[in-house]
Amino acid sequence: MKDTYKHRGMRNKLADVLISKGITHTMVLDAIRTIPRHLFIDSSFEGHAYQDKAFPIGAEQTISQPYTVAFQTELLEIKPNHKILEIGTGSGYQTAVLLQFKAKVYTIERQLELFKKINIFFKKMGYRPKKVIFGDGYKGMPEEAPFDGVIVTAGAPEVPKALMSQLKIGGRLVIPLGIDEQIMTLYIRKSEKKFEKKEFGSFRFVPLLEDKN
Ligand code: SAH
Repeated sequence: MKDTYKHRGMRNKLADVLISKGITHTMVLDAIRTIPRHLFIDSSFEGHAYQDKAFPIGAEQTISQPYTVAFQTELLEIKPNHKILEIGTGSGYQTAVLLQFKAKVYTIERQLELFKKINIFFKKMGYRPKKVIFGDGYKGMPEEAPFDGVIVTAGAPEVPKALMSQLKIGGRLVIPLGIDEQIMTLYIRKSEKKFEKKEFGSFRFVPLLEDKN
């Protein structure tokens, strides 16, 4: 798997596009400039990797649009050593961005095909999330809670209660809420029972699917 000066050049341009769309966080932009996004998609579609677009990764799923990844990551306000839970590992690109912040990353994927693929890929790339779990993200990861941040990378019809309860006081949950279109929503846990809610622009995600069994 190759990463060349040409790819780096395309990443710098992509970072410029994100700046023009309002992304300002230096570490987020550095992550975009560093992580070889073309290696997270099928090599025959490499040409699409550095456009600001979502792209299919198999199993009817997509790698999120770079702008969306940057926007959600900004909202998390990650500090080194933060414990971050990601729902929807997918291509692993968002995971790699979180790791760039020296966060302890826990991630859950419910598509077996993608889960198997991503474990091999992380090893090959030397990415080391603390845990990659095959399961239903609606339930979160109670055995590792509480988290400083939770990021949901699929569109949820409503906030899964488990994810709220697994946040530290002061912790942040970033979740796109809605069915056809999603409003990016941030919950900050103020106390045991109190959450502050903030809404941002509208986005489009693949659906967060609940396992009914
Ligand atoms: N973070 C990914 C985004 C992938 S798209 C990336 O950067 O590539 C969203 C992912 O969420 C898909 O892989 C989908 O299979 C997964 N997903 C959907 N519902 C889920 C659930 N209940 N629990 C865990 N993962 C889920």
